[in-house]
Amino acid sequence: MSKKKRKALKDIFNGKKRDTLRNKSSSLSSDSFRYEQNHSNKRKKVRIRKRNDGLSRQLKRIKKQVKYNIGTFLQRIAGRENVSNKRDTRHINKNPNAVRRTKRVEPYERHSSYGGYRTSTVYTRRRIARRRRRTIVKIKRIFFIAFVFVTVFLFSFIAYYKPFKTTVVGDVTLRGDVTYKTQIIGVDTKNIKTGTNYAFNVQNVIEDHFNNKVIDNVDKSLITINVTSENLKNKVSVNKNVINIDDSVTSGSVLNMVVSYKKLSKSYSYTIKDNLSEEIDKNMIITNPNEYDAVVNKERHLSSSYKPSDLVKPNIDFMQSNESVMYLRKDAAKALEELCKDAQSSGYKFYGVSGFRSYSLQVDVYKDNIAQYGNEEDANFYSAKPGESEHQLGLSMDLSTKEVNYQLVESLGDTPAGKWLEENCYKYGFIIRFPKDKEKITGYSYEPWHIRYVGKDLAKIIHDNNLTLEEYFESDKY
Ligand SMILES: [Zn+2]
Repeated sequence: MSKKKRKALKDIFNGKKRDTLRNKSSSLSSDSFRYEQNHSNKRKKVRIRKRNDGLSRQLKRIKKQVKYNIGTFLQRIAGRENVSNKRDTRHINKNPNAVRRTKRVEPYERHSSYGGYRTSTVYTRRRIARRRRRTIVKIKRIFFIAFVFVTVFLFSFIAYYKPFKTTVVGDVTLRGDVTYKTQIIGVDTKNIKTGTNYAFNVQNVIEDHFNNKVIDNVDKSLITINVTSENLKNKVSVNKNVINIDDSVTSGSVLNMVVSYKKLSKSYSYTIKDNLSEEIDKNMIITNPNEYDAVVNKERHLSSSYKPSDLVKPNIDFMQSNESVMYLRKDAAKALEELCKDAQSSGYKFYGVSGFRSYSLQVDVYKDNIAQYGNEEDANFYSAKPGESEHQLGLSMDLSTKEVNYQLVESLGDTPAGKWLEENCYKYGFIIRFPKDKEKITGYSYEPWHIRYVGKDLAKIIHDNNLTLEEYFESDKY
């Protein structure tokens, strides 16, 4: 060993810098050193890459795991338990030599996605199990939805109604937010009757969502009632909070009124309509013969002594000269004059035949009719018994025309004049009292000549709805 070499070795052992050594060694053997260096770099790179690969794969695995866990969690809370993932593969026939129990193999059992054959028993068992799992999943889902609904309902119920907040008024416990209000209590009916008292009241009320409690009644003298129907203003008596409608108001009239209390006011609208059953006594005699809407028929009679007090002779032409049957009550006479006048200007000339007939006169008429028809039954269909005739009311008139020879015949209804009368008489307050095809209701044959005054309101309702007087009172619709 030369001196130089020995010194170099000595330096190494004395801890001289590696670089120096490398430089020295490279200078000693540069080729082998370069090889050594390159190789070590390569190994290093591979190592790093491997490490990185390991990391990314690990990350991937973690990601996958997290994703799966979240998915499973979501499915579980929604009651959807991973049906497909739980597919049970234990029943795959692992032994290819196993003997199948059934000879017949359905095509769908063979070549399944699992490969190989399965016995139908296994298949059925799996199918049942799967079905059961699905049913359970469905039930769970329903329960979950129901639970959500109930919870939401409960929370909103409590939030809205505040059942735990109570107010005690007297013996009533009110829950939640309460409101105080004053309200007018009207007459709760569509129709009101004449000659009857109806009271309107005002109440102070405290209420929650479910209950209400009247806390005190108010001073009734502060209630004011104002009738707004012009035609009824003088026919409605108002006494503080009570109203009473005069008997002369006909059924079918509309009563509009406003009830006020301090700053509060409420409008009411009622139709006047009497109750027929209350206007008859035990002898079938009606108690309201002076009212324009009085109903007289075979079940509702007039007393033999009844005679209206306001009979006048209407200024129309009559076909006969017997003055005793020319009268009508004042309003009816006036309306008939207008009717005849307007009919004439339309080209139809009507002649009065018979208006008011007293009870005693009707006795004679009825006797004549029995003689004419030969028996009482027919006579009663074509004319009225004494006390059952509307003519005694002084509200009915029989009319005829030259066209039908001044006779009272059904054919009048087919003539233009008869048709005009049927279509227009309601405008004057009259109705055709015994219409065609209503014989069973009225009890009388068709009489196109017999018009009856009932007042304009009621006449219009009866005309517009094609009713008889009886039908109007029997129905709740009008
Ligand atoms: Zn008549």
